[in-house]
Amino acid sequence: MATKVGFIGLGAMGAPLAKSLQSKGFDLHVFDLDATKIALLASFGARAAASVAAAAQGADIVITILPATAHVESVVFGPAGVLANIDPGAVLMEMSTIDAKATDKVAAACAAQDIGFVDSPVGRLVLHAERGESLFMVGANDADFEKVAPLLNAMGNAIHRCGPPGAGSRMKVINNFMLLSIAEIVAESLTLGTKLGLSPEIMREVTAATTAANGQFHTLMVNKVLQGDIEPGFTIDLAFKDMALAINAAAEQRIGLPVGAAVLAVYGAARAGKYAGKDYSALLSRACDLAGIETPRLHG
Ligand code: NAD
Repeated sequence: MATKVGFIGLGAMGAPLAKSLQSKGFDLHVFDLDATKIALLASFGARAAASVAAAAQGADIVITILPATAHVESVVFGPAGVLANIDPGAVLMEMSTIDAKATDKVAAACAAQDIGFVDSPVGRLVLHAERGESLFMVGANDADFEKVAPLLNAMGNAIHRCGPPGAGSRMKVINNFMLLSIAEIVAESLTLGTKLGLSPEIMREVTAATTAANGQFHTLMVNKVLQGDIEPGFTIDLAFKDMALAINAAAEQRIGLPVGAAVLAVYGAARAGKYAGKDYSALLSRACDLAGIETPRLHG
């Protein structure tokens, strides 16, 4: 019998991951607060669940991929939530990017109910998820990992075991701190270069061939903002959340991250305005607005 999967959270990242599972033959029961997102997955053959509880009941594996810590806590711990409905022996795989201490809390609650737990935050962009090329940062014991491995293989092509439960969440905070900080440096570089009269084509060509090469320019921005597309993808709002996770973790460890703190302020300012719900590559549009120039576009 096909593995029964309850999938909760069908947003920009959840929907393409769910679609991959559906296309690989899993018995998928999907739920989101937004009924149109459930209907979209149902049109690909997934079964619509009426609630979190319905998605969790009888599932072998329940997946949550929700915006932030508060959403995960309410879906997992709520009175009609996952833990109140999931069967003993099943596994909860939490794939959101959240505070690692919240991940630890969920893991401990699962252990107390004889439910397996895996944290597996997602790396790479939505465009990779749509191609089944996501990367996963996994925290799990061996037995639970074996159970979720077929799902991870169906959704992505790079699985990194980071350590015990909670290690995936910790790795994700570090990963996103690094990439979100670099994105702002790229945005500032392209804005200055545009003001100095350089075309995006020549900046792309030269920096692709030097040690300045990086994914924020050459994978993210060339496919998004430099094509005139700032629809998410990964929103400025979620980027701010991830920067705050890292800066808060640093504060708890009594570590100063001066450039990181400045970058957090940039995302904080960006989410106060019209770019909050746009893709984080729109940092470039915001930097260009502040510089009083048009956002450059690649031609060809
Ligand atoms: P999103 O805002 O597009 O989607 C979140 C979905 O969760 C929405 O459809 C929303 O309706 C649903 N939701 C919220 N509360 C709910 C509840 N109580 N019950 C059911 N559904 C609920 O966010 P996203 O971009 O899909 O990101 C999800 C997670 O994945 C975040 O933690 C994000 O940081 C992480 N992530 C996103 C990307 C990306 O590129 N978008 C990449 C890697 C990781």
